[in-house]
Amino acid sequence: MAGGRRPFSWRDRYPEQVTCVRCLQVKDTVEVDRLLWCDDCQSAAKSRAAFWGWLGGFVIAAALAAYIWVAIQPSDLILKLWAVIPIAALWLGGRIVREVVYGVERYRNRRAVDAFPPSRDPGPRANGGPRFPDQDGEGQDGPADDDPTD
Ligand SMILES: [Zn+2]
Repeated sequence: MAGGRRPFSWRDRYPEQVTCVRCLQVKDTVEVDRLLWCDDCQSAAKSRAAFWGWLGGFVIAAALAAYIWVAIQPSDLILKLWAVIPIAALWLGGRIVREVVYGVERYRNRRAVDAFPPSRDPGPRANGGPRFPDQDGEGQDGPADDDPTD
């Protein structure tokens, strides 16, 4: 009722903070959904699903286009009409794949997949923590210079 307040919801009875199961960051309860995914992790999963949706749509459309080209062999006059089918398959199949991928990810609900290991964060403790091999192989053999016994 006060100015600017959001409408009452059942979550208002539990005002404490919770940890998002995906990124392991502490969020306010209003920022997570019932699966304890925060808004950032939901949008990250949605954009990943959108990528796979486009990929799946392209695969379906390409397969349909190849089938039409090889098996049906339309004449030049109605080729444009047949071209509508792969385009529709790209759009519709992409949406279906996207929803399926997102639904599967929600169903599996894997923990901490969007979390970063703390030792990889660039911070004051980064030098003292365990070293991970870099992409170019650096850091695998540890400190080689400061060994006076050799
Ligand atoms: Zn999260």
